[in-house]
Amino acid sequence: MRIAELLKSSAKPFPSIEIVPPLKGVTKQGLIESVKPFVEFNLGYINVTCHRDEIDFRQEDDGSFTRHLVRRRISETAVCAAIQSEFKIDVVPHIICGGATADNINTLVQDFLFLGIENVLALRGDCVMGEKRFTPTPGGYRYASELVASIRQISSDSGKPLCIGVGAYPEKHFEAANIQADILNLKRKVDAGADFIITQMFFDNAVFYRFRDMCCKAGINVPIVPGLKPLSSVRQVELLPKSFFIDIPFGLTSEIEAHRNDAAACYLIGQQWCMEQTRDLISNGAPAVHFYTMGRPDNMIEILKSCF
Ligand code: FAD
Repeated sequence: MRIAELLKSSAKPFPSIEIVPPLKGVTKQGLIESVKPFVEFNLGYINVTCHRDEIDFRQEDDGSFTRHLVRRRISETAVCAAIQSEFKIDVVPHIICGGATADNINTLVQDFLFLGIENVLALRGDCVMGEKRFTPTPGGYRYASELVASIRQISSDSGKPLCIGVGAYPEKHFEAANIQADILNLKRKVDAGADFIITQMFFDNAVFYRFRDMCCKAGINVPIVPGLKPLSSVRQVELLPKSFFIDIPFGLTSEIEAHRNDAAACYLIGQQWCMEQTRDLISNGAPAVHFYTMGRPDNMIEILKSCF
């Protein structure tokens, strides 16, 4: 089903999850086993992230260096096909500009249409390691808005217009000069054809509500799905802000700090915080809540059980 329609028509809020394709070597059965625990919770859909090839430089015998493309994970196309063949659930593959030409994107979209996929999430993608700023691939796209327009065109020309989602940042994207400029960009993506929005994770719902109001004032009227991740260790208090350019409220960090030597207690504090965020979002009109599983099914299962 098209997610924009599901979000508008669902009688009650529902959960969805994001998974990362497994590393090479994991079998289809291994993937299916890892997804199975979530499926009983009536997920609306499963997002599958996309990772561009990494570049490895190897020193040769003569001292020179050669450049090698390395793909560490199974492709999102294979993961989506595997999940669809096992479960009756919509998959949402992510498509990124990074590392792809317009022709590569066209091929990917055709593969997704072939698989009967109806929804995708269009993103610019992150920089590759060592890059200071995002460099578009020659013949590719610089911004997600260009990617959205291209996917809209390709899929419409094929007679099966995809439902397209885009990413958004309640605390602003780290490269944007200010939140207003970032919201103007989000509007550009919606004007280019995006049908729904999924946000970056956040730990303070007030930040999300402020962002949602600003989007509404800017004329963005497609559904906005809040994205959450439970904090599960002391280490993440340092890692998440660095990796995702987000704030973690003092109320949460101080509680975690007070239990820094008790891993089980920290895990429960993070889980409890996420449950409270979820319930609050549901009671404040969120049509659905999207969870970043990051390989921690046990944690998520408790949250889904308690909130949906
Ligand atoms: P864009 O919307 O293109 O924005 C990038 C920056 O450029 C912003 O600062 C924006 O304000 C600015 N900008 C945009 N258009 C213009 C313009 N015309 N003029 C000037 N400035 C402009 N990354 C992955 O590699 N793989 C994934 O699977 C993945 N999944 C994600 C899922 C979600 C829900 C989210 C929120 C992010 C995900 N990311 C993923 C991370 C994302 O790729 C990065 O955050 C990336 O840096 C920005 O992507 P974007 O699509 O938001 O970019």
